[in-house]
Amino acid sequence: MNKIFADLPNTIFDVMSQAARDLNAINLGQGFPDDPGPLDIREKAADAVLNGYNQYPSMMGIPELRQAIATHYAHWHGVQLDPMSEVMVTSGATEALTGSILGLVQPGDEVLVFQPMYDSYVPIIRLAGGTPKFLRLEPPHWRLPEEAIRAAITPRTRYVMLNNPLNPAAVVYPREDLEMLGRICQEYNLIAICDEVWEHVVFDGREHIPLIAIPGMRDRTVKIGSAGKMFGLTGWKIGFVCAAPHILRVLAKAHQFITFTTPPNLQVAVAYGLGKSDDYFLQMRADLARSRDRLSKGLTSLGFPVLQSQGTYFLNVDLAPLGLNESDVAFCKRIVHEHKVAAIPVSAFYEENHVTSVVRFCFSKKDATLDTALERLTHVL
Ligand code: PMP
Ligand code: GLN
Repeated sequence: MNKIFADLPNTIFDVMSQAARDLNAINLGQGFPDDPGPLDIREKAADAVLNGYNQYPSMMGIPELRQAIATHYAHWHGVQLDPMSEVMVTSGATEALTGSILGLVQPGDEVLVFQPMYDSYVPIIRLAGGTPKFLRLEPPHWRLPEEAIRAAITPRTRYVMLNNPLNPAAVVYPREDLEMLGRICQEYNLIAICDEVWEHVVFDGREHIPLIAIPGMRDRTVKIGSAGKMFGLTGWKIGFVCAAPHILRVLAKAHQFITFTTPPNLQVAVAYGLGKSDDYFLQMRADLARSRDRLSKGLTSLGFPVLQSQGTYFLNVDLAPLGLNESDVAFCKRIVHEHKVAAIPVSAFYEENHVTSVVRFCFSKKDATLDTALERLTHVL
C-alpha cells in the first residue's frame, strides 16, 4: 500500500462532520451553507438533466462554460483568457489542485507551502515525488513573510502554492503581498499554483486580486476556482483551471486520467450562474458578511477573542489570551461532545510547527442556526 495515503488520518472535515452527525451537534465545522442555494441555478441544472446533457461532454469542459469563465474573469478582474487554450473545467477545485500538482511537480522538486494550508495539497505533492517546504503564517494578520520565503528557496524550488483568500485564516491578501510574491516568482523562475476558490467571498468592500493579474505572472500562474464557493453549492464539484496554453496543455493530460470529464448538466447551470449580474455576487457578500457579524458579535459577547474575517465562510477565535490550558483539538472535542457544536481546530492545517490555539467556525448558516449554536456555547468558557 502507498504509505503516503495509508498513514494519513481521516481529513478533519469528515471527522468533524461525522462527529456532528453522530452527536446531533450543530455543524459549524466543514464549510457549507445550510440553505439550498440559488433556485434559478438549480432549475437550470434540473432542466439540463431532463433535456439532454447527460452523456460525456468534451474533456476540457463544455464550450459554453469555458467561454463563461473567460468572460467572467475579464469582467471582474480584467484578465483576458482564451477559453479554448487557457481554460479547463474539472471536477471541483480538489481535482484541479491534484491535477496541477501531478501535472507539474517532478521528483526532487521543492514546493513552497504556506501554513495554515488546505489539507489536500501536501499528500499530492508527496505523491508526485516533490518536497513541501513549509512557511508559517502568523495570526492575527497572516501576511506573506518575504524574508522567510527568500530564505526557503533553494536551487530545487520550482513552485509555490498560494491560497487567496486564505482558508482557514479568512485573510484576503493585499496587492502589496501579491506583488512581492510575484517579484520572487520571477526572480527565481517559480510557477505559482493559486487556489482562489474563495475569490467571490470577500467582505467590507475588499477586492480579490488574482495572482495571474499581477504584472509578470500571466504565464507563470495556475489559477484555480470553484463554482461550489461562488454559488454556495459546495457539493456540485465544478472547478476551473486557467493557465497559459503551454501549462494548461500538460494539466489537461493529468485531467484526462483523473476524471476525464465533469457532469455536463451542472456545467450548463454554472455557465448560466457565471453570467449573473454584479448585484448577485455583491448581495451574496453582503448576506454572508451579515452572518459573519452575527456570529462574531455573539462570540465576542461570550468572551471569545474573535479574529478579523476578511473573506471565506469562516471566522476564527484565538484561545491563547484566555489561558484555558487546552489545545484547539481538545477544545473542539469538548465543545462537540459537551455543547453539541462542531468547529475545526486550525492546527489541522499545519504539518509542522503547529499553531494550536486557533479554532475555526463556519458562519454561512441561517440566523437560527447561528443563534442556537451561540446559546449552546454560552457556558463553554
Ligand atoms: N481549496 C480550498 C482552500 C477550499 O476551501 C476548498 C473547499 N472547500 C477546496 C479547495 C475544494 O474545492 P472543491 O469543493 O471545488 O473541490
Ligand atoms: N472547504 C471546506 C472547508 O474548509 C470543505 C472542504 C472539504 O470538505 N474537504 O471546510
